[in-house]
Amino acid sequence: MAKRKGANRGRVILVAGGAGFVGSHLCSALLGAGNRVICLDSYLTGSPDNVAALQRNPYFTMVEQDVCDEIVSDEPLDEIYNLACPASPPSYQADPIHTMMTSVTGTGNLLRLAARHGARFLQASTSEIYGDPQQHPQQEEYWGHVNCTGPRACYDEGKRAAEALCFDSLRAGSVDAKVARIFNTYGPHMRPNDGRIVSNFVVQALNNEPLTVYGSGEQTRSFCYVSDLVEGLIRLMNRDPNPGVPVNLGNPGEFTVIELAELVLSKVRTASAIVHAPLPPDDPQRRRPDISRAKSLLGWEPKVPLQDGLTHTIAWFQRALPQQPPMRRR
Ligand code: NAD
Ligand code: UDP
Repeated sequence: MAKRKGANRGRVILVAGGAGFVGSHLCSALLGAGNRVICLDSYLTGSPDNVAALQRNPYFTMVEQDVCDEIVSDEPLDEIYNLACPASPPSYQADPIHTMMTSVTGTGNLLRLAARHGARFLQASTSEIYGDPQQHPQQEEYWGHVNCTGPRACYDEGKRAAEALCFDSLRAGSVDAKVARIFNTYGPHMRPNDGRIVSNFVVQALNNEPLTVYGSGEQTRSFCYVSDLVEGLIRLMNRDPNPGVPVNLGNPGEFTVIELAELVLSKVRTASAIVHAPLPPDDPQRRRPDISRAKSLLGWEPKVPLQDGLTHTIAWFQRALPQQPPMRRR
């Protein structure tokens, strides 16, 4: 890993997956708090655009690398956040074996790096470790209901294995590892063609294309705005002593897919209508975080309501997308 610019400043923090949607906001917040940030990313689903503004900061360094390859740093690291992993179902299913190895080999590599440097470690885990949950809302004690042979397994089981690696490293005393179980998060810097629900619906509405509701649209998700999530991640990393248990981070407001489609349509001047498309296999029916643990351990809860977060997200996509064709009637 190259020697960093701007040597005399704050903590030195490596963010794997820092050029992605969440990672780029995290890098920005950590720099803003006076730290030096090394972003390590292969650009698999991230983008140089997401970190273009950060590249002008002398305390930011970009390293283009796959986490599955050995990672070395010639300078001491204080903290490592591991966000490296494609998060959208079409992206993580495009090369499922690489997705699994990213979570297993990649997390293993980063934990070894953390052990060598005595760096604190935070793993970006996911609500997907609960699978299609039979407990609602989902508490951290719930062990989950995951199909280990289906098309989502490369992501869900990879993330479950990564959690096991973190807790084994913690029990062994080799790494001060923490695990955040992140629920659906949205906001600026999502890729327009990412395939996730919020980016799909917003881009479709802005392009006057039909909003593609998969299945009946009665399935639910809970949507957290990205600034709230980043605040939770930083609080968890800095929680002392280490709680030694995973922590759900998400917004407990629960919406059906149809409700989200209607909300987007109400906020965008568009000719779009709703169409139904087949439900992907193993699509979880319900998802809502119980955030009691985050509230009590971190004093954290989301502040941005879906209405407001969507307004910011739509405004960002309006600027980021190419010029729209003229609006047609619905
Ligand atoms: P994203 O796809 O935008 O970002 C992932 C980043 O990791 C990208 O920049 C990508 O290029 C990089 N990456 C992927 N594989 C890599 C590899 N092998 N080596 C190096 N870099 C690699 O996704 P996101 O929404 O920003 O998610 C960030 C993290 O949070 C992921 O680990 C994801 O599993 C987790 N998460 C996100 C959500 C969400 O709703 N956004 C929900 C649950 C968990
Ligand atoms: N979904 C949808 N239309 C889309 C994209 C997603 O109806 O264009 C649905 C999807 O079937 C799921 C929910 O929205 O029920 C959330 O999907 P996403 O891929 O964003 O995240 P995940 O399924 O991983 O929670």
